[in-house]
Amino acid sequence: MSSVELSDIRKSFGTVEVIAGVDLEIEEGEFVVFVGPSGSGKSTMLRILAGLEDVTSGTVAIGGNDVTYAAPSERGIAMVFQSYALYPHKSVFENIAFNLRLNKVRNAQVQTRVQEAARILKLTELLDRKPSQLSGGQRQRVAIGRAIVRNPEVFLFDEPLSNLDAALRVEMRFEIEKLHREIGATMVYVTHDQVEAMTLADRIVAFDKGRIQQIGTPLELYRNPSNLFVAGFIGSPQ
Ligand code: ADP
Ligand code: MG
Repeated sequence: MSSVELSDIRKSFGTVEVIAGVDLEIEEGEFVVFVGPSGSGKSTMLRILAGLEDVTSGTVAIGGNDVTYAAPSERGIAMVFQSYALYPHKSVFENIAFNLRLNKVRNAQVQTRVQEAARILKLTELLDRKPSQLSGGQRQRVAIGRAIVRNPEVFLFDEPLSNLDAALRVEMRFEIEKLHREIGATMVYVTHDQVEAMTLADRIVAFDKGRIQQIGTPLELYRNPSNLFVAGFIGSPQ
C-alpha cells in the first residue's frame, strides 16, 4: 500500500488549467522531491495534498483512505512553508505546541510531544525564548517542530529553506535528512536547489506546465534527463 496516491488530478483556476492530469504513487517512508520551473504547479500540488485547495477532478488517497474531500486536519499531514509565521509574543514552546493546544490535547501529552520535537531539532535549551531571540535557522526549526508534534503520516515542505543563507541551508538540509531517518515519515519536498534535490530525494518528480515530465531516482534523472529543464537542473549534458 502506498502512503500517497494521486489519481488523474486536475485543477483549474477560472479557465486556466494549472494541474493537467497528475498520477503519482508515493511509498510509505519515501522522500519525494518536486522540481520544475516557477509556475509549473508544484505548490498547487502540495496544497491539494494538504487539503488547502480543492481539486477540479481526480482523487487523493493518504494511507489508503480517500481524503479527496477531507478537511486538512483529517488528512494526517503537516505542511512547512517557506515563510513561517511564528507568534512573536509566545515562547518557542508555545509556538511548537500551538496546534496541539488548538486541538485540546492534554497538557501531559503536549509536554511530551514538544520535548521530543525539541530534542530532535536541538531546541531543548531554547524553549523559553521568544522568536525574536532566535536565529533564522532556529526559527525554521521551530516551524518544523510545529509539524513534528502533530505526528503526521506525511510531511509537506514548500521550499522551506529558500529564505535562509547558504550556510544555514546546508545545516538545515542535514537536519531534514536526520529527521527523515529518525521518524521515517513520508516526505514531499519542493525545492529550487539542485543539491537539496539530489541529496534528499529517493525519487525526483519533475513538473512542467501542470504535468509530470519525469519521475526517477536522482541518478536516473542525471543519466537520462527527459528534457532540457531536467538536464539543466540536474547539471547533466543532454
Ligand atoms: P510553482 O509552485 O511550481 O511555482 P504554483 O503551483 O504556485 O507553481 O502555480 C501554478 C500556476 O497556478 C501558476 O500559473 C499560478 O499563477 C497559478 N495559480 C496558483 N494559485 C492560484 C490562485 N489561487 N488563483 C489563480 N491562479 C493561481
Ligand atoms: Mg511554489
